[in-house]
Amino acid sequence: MAIQPAFVKSVFDLKDLPSDGLPEVVLIGRSNVGKSSLINSLAVKKEIAKTSAKPGKTQSLNFYIFPPSYYLVDTPGYGFAHRSKADQEKWRRLMESYISERTELQTVGIVIDSRHQGLESDVLALEWIASLECRWFVVLSKIDKIKQSEISAHEKYIKTEFSGYERMFSVSSERGMGIAALRQYLAALQ
Ligand code: GDP
Repeated sequence: MAIQPAFVKSVFDLKDLPSDGLPEVVLIGRSNVGKSSLINSLAVKKEIAKTSAKPGKTQSLNFYIFPPSYYLVDTPGYGFAHRSKADQEKWRRLMESYISERTELQTVGIVIDSRHQGLESDVLALEWIASLECRWFVVLSKIDKIKQSEISAHEKYIKTEFSGYERMFSVSSERGMGIAALRQYLAALQ
């Protein structure tokens, strides 16, 4: 088994999920919200996850092992304009099967760009997760790009408008803010 966090595999079909029984945490969020950067900064070592400025990654669940305790699972971004209704529906079905059937899955993290409060695709995703009866948490990303007052306003908005999530983390992968707290939370989950 790897001793450093590392990419393990991309899963295109739920029958190919890992069989070693390790707990899993899945991250969802719009494309470019900073999920890959987040995985890299949680891993400390740079570039285990490919970061990219352009949307449109494949429809796979990407498994990263964080030894010794868990898998972090990256997913394709939801809700960008040029994705067809059929593709959005396919994404939702894949995620719903994974979230409802996967016993190894501990919790779902929704990553939201702290600069963009109340985007329709994020609101729909927050309402959708809240309806699934799973554990979930919120990550506000890229907080180095806005003022503390704006971060607080976004946190307050989430607290006021949505319920059922376990924790909220405001982070910057670029500068490292909030990363240690999130890493500690994830490692303690099982
Ligand atoms: P993904 O599509 O959700 O995996 O997003 P990426 O991790 O590829 O990030 C998209 C873009 O946002 C890249 O250009 C990153 O460098 C940038 N980015 C990600 N996290 C941060 C952050 O914390 N601060 C800043 N300033 N930029 C970030």
